[in-house]
Amino acid sequence: MSSINTGIEWCDRTWNPTTGCDKVSPGCTHCYAEALTKRFHTNFPNGFDLTLHRNRLEEPKRWKKPSRIFVNSMSDLFHEEVPIDFLKEVFDVMRETPWHIYQILTKRHEGLREIADQLDWHDNIWMGVSVENQNYVNRIDCLRQVPAQVRFLSCEPLLGNLELDLKDIHWVIVGGESGVKHRPIQPEWVENIKQQCEDAKVAFFFKQWGGRTPKAAGRLLDEKIWDEMPEAWDKHQSSA
Ligand code: SF4
Repeated sequence: MSSINTGIEWCDRTWNPTTGCDKVSPGCTHCYAEALTKRFHTNFPNGFDLTLHRNRLEEPKRWKKPSRIFVNSMSDLFHEEVPIDFLKEVFDVMRETPWHIYQILTKRHEGLREIADQLDWHDNIWMGVSVENQNYVNRIDCLRQVPAQVRFLSCEPLLGNLELDLKDIHWVIVGGESGVKHRPIQPEWVENIKQQCEDAKVAFFFKQWGGRTPKAAGRLLDEKIWDEMPEAWDKHQSSA
C-alpha cells in the first residue's frame, strides 16, 4: 500500500515494501497496521503475516515529486523475517532516489543495531525508534549507534511519563493513542517531553492528543501547533 493521503502529519506518503508484523511491546496492542489489514483483508492475502513485496521496490523511482516517505506504515522493516539482502535492496532504492526523504521507524532496536553497519546510510535516510513508555528508552541507545543523518523518536502512543537521554537525537514526535480502546495520554507527560526537547535543542513535533478518532481532541499544545522538523529538513528543501 502506498498513499499520498497518509493522515500522518509528519510525512507526505508511505511506501510498504513489506507488510505484516508481530507484536513486540505495549505500543503494539492496538496496532493500526493490523487493524487496517483486517479491514481491507482482500488486499492482504497473507493477512498480517510478514510478507515481502518485491514488486513495490521500484515505486519511489516513479514518484518524481520530492516527498517525505514513511517506510513501512504497515510493517516493521527490521522485522527478524526480513532477509538482509532484501533490506539492502530497499536501501539501494533510497540511495538512488535522493530527491526524497525516507523516514524509517522500528521497535526492533536490537536487530537494527546488529545490522546497521551492513547498510548504506545515505543522507536522505532518517531512522527512528518508538518509545512508548520508560521501559523502552533503551531503544534510544541502539539508535544512537546508527549512522543516520537524522535520528528520531516516535513517542506514540505515549503511555507514560518519559525521562529521555536526547544526546545525538534530532527529532521527537509525540502523540496520543486513538480508537475506541485508546489509552489516555496525560498533558504533563507531553509538557515534560517538550521541555526536555527545548533544553536539548531537539525539534519537537506534537502529532495529536488522540481519543476515539485521531483528530478528536486536536493537536494544540499551549494553544499552539508544534510541528518542528529537524534542521536537515530545511537543508534538504533548500537544496531541492
Ligand atoms: S511493530 Fe509496529 S507494525 Fe509491528 S505490530 Fe507493533 S505497532 Fe504493529
